[in-house]
This record gives sequence, C-alpha cells and structure tokens, in this order.
Amino acid sequence: MDDCIFCKIIEGDVPCDLVYQDDKLVVFRDIRPKAKTHLLLVPKLHIKSLLEVQGEHGDLLSHMMLVLPKIAIDAGLKTGFRTVINTGPGGGQEVDHLHLHVLGGGLAKF
Ligand code: 5GP
Ligand code: ZN
Repeated sequence: MDDCIFCKIIEGDVPCDLVYQDDKLVVFRDIRPKAKTHLLLVPKLHIKSLLEVQGEHGDLLSHMMLVLPKIAIDAGLKTGFRTVINTGPGGGQEVDHLHLHVLGGGLAKF
C-alpha cells in the first residue's frame, strides 16, 4: 500500500528502531511511546485491521501470538506485558495496517 507508513517501514523506505523481524512480521519501537517499553508488532502483509481478517490469515495471527512472549522477554519485560490492538475509528486506530502494541513498564491498571 503506497500511502501506508507501516508498509514504508517494512520496505525500508522509512527508518525505524527495529527489534525483531522474520519472514512474516516486524517489531519496532513506537515513535511516541506510551510506556517505558512500547513495541509495535506488525505483520508484513498489509491487512487494514482485525475487521479485514479472513480465515486465510489464521497462520499469520497464530504466529504473531506465538512469537510475542519471546519478543517481550527479550525486550526486558520479564515480569509481564500488556498487548493492545486498536481496531477502526471506534477503537482509536490511527494507522490502518494491523498491528499489536506491546507495552511494559510504568503501566496504570485498567
Ligand atoms: P494505533 O493508534 O493505530 O493503534 O497506533 C499507531 C501507533 O503507531 C501509534 O502509537 C503511533 O505512535 C505509532 N506510529 C505512527 N507513525 C509511526 C512511525 O512513523 N514510526 C513509528 N515507530 N511509530 C509510529
Ligand atoms: Zn501497510
């Protein structure tokens, strides 16, 4: 997607603080962190949001969940972390490329 900031990051056209990548996803630090550690786990495939997810994306979504704990622990979140997926305008989503926030350190309970 030409006008998608996360696709540009994935293509290497926009710099990021990369934490991890494999054939299916990238993980980089949020440019405006909402916690001491704030990572974005982003599939390389452009899917707009959870509302666009189809059955064919099952393996990808499973992969995201399976690699998540190791990425969080490697980032120093050894006592745990929070995951957030904002979906659509009603969910406060700003970047229309599916992504999972990984937050830890100094979090308020909610
Ligand atoms: P959303 O509100 O869509 O769930 O979250 C989008 C997140 O992407 C926000 O937390 C925002 O700070 C982050 N973000 C937006 N543009 C960039 C960028 O160019 N680089 C990085 N690293 N993060 C970005
Ligand atoms: Zn995209």
